[in-house]
Amino acid sequence: MSQQITITAYSTALFSTWIFVAQWRLLLDAGDGVCAGLLQKTRKIHTIAVTHADRDHLAGLFQLLQLNARDGVPRILYPADCGSFPALAAFSEKFDPHTEGQATWTAMQPGEVVPLVQGYKLRSASSFHFTDAGAQVKSLSYLVVREVRSLKPQYVGNSQAELDRIRQEHGADQITQVTEEPVLAYSGDTTVSNADTWRGYKILIHEATYLSHKDAGDQSGRHNQHSVLPDVLEMAKQAGPQVLVLTHFSPRYKPAEVLDTVRQQCRSLELAFPVHVVPPGEIMRDLLSAAPIWRP
Ligand SMILES: [Zn+2]
Repeated sequence: MSQQITITAYSTALFSTWIFVAQWRLLLDAGDGVCAGLLQKTRKIHTIAVTHADRDHLAGLFQLLQLNARDGVPRILYPADCGSFPALAAFSEKFDPHTEGQATWTAMQPGEVVPLVQGYKLRSASSFHFTDAGAQVKSLSYLVVREVRSLKPQYVGNSQAELDRIRQEHGADQITQVTEEPVLAYSGDTTVSNADTWRGYKILIHEATYLSHKDAGDQSGRHNQHSVLPDVLEMAKQAGPQVLVLTHFSPRYKPAEVLDTVRQQCRSLELAFPVHVVPPGEIMRDLLSAAPIWRP
């Protein structure tokens, strides 16, 4: 799996988050430094899925569009009720007139689906970041699924000759169906939600801003809510991904402190899957190919 999915990521709370999945031409969030980090590879980005309008998740858009906007790409997806995006689109086109009408901007409701590259789709889901959003859609998670064509259950056991005959007579759709295989889930900024949200996804990328509840303090009165590492790991243990990637750590932590704490907590929970970390301040290139911080 790690051979097929190349992820380059930078993620530090307050400063910047961007995650590039090369095979899907997909950028998850577009924080400051994405162009400096990816250089010419930014040209490959066709879809930019932004989770919310905090500046550390979108400040890289401006330069990315200035360099790359052409013929309908990139396509920028954003939570439906974030007014910052239409404002940014208007300003960007005025400031860099050559980008006018080039990129596309799509307001996403939770559950909406857009095609990625051949055979893959991206779906948005509600996340739980802003306490005062009410019914408005201000923050999203994103889920990547693969479309798999398989034999309908009623035809399993038929001979190949029989299947060929039915296909010729009625077409392929008569005997096959398209189902979805969950591949990758990205939480965006959020508190920890129910494990069911992520169940079945092979790769789970989840924020873990705070290493402990003591560091998180009382979040109940705050406008923005974030995840705490022990809660993320407990939830992931229930969800059971093939691999977990932890992002968005607070810059108060040194990388070594993050790695030690993650390893310790994974060991005490006896997690059955490998765990990778995007440490604060560091760009991780092809991170699924690197040695995980925790291996069962
Ligand atoms: Zn953030």
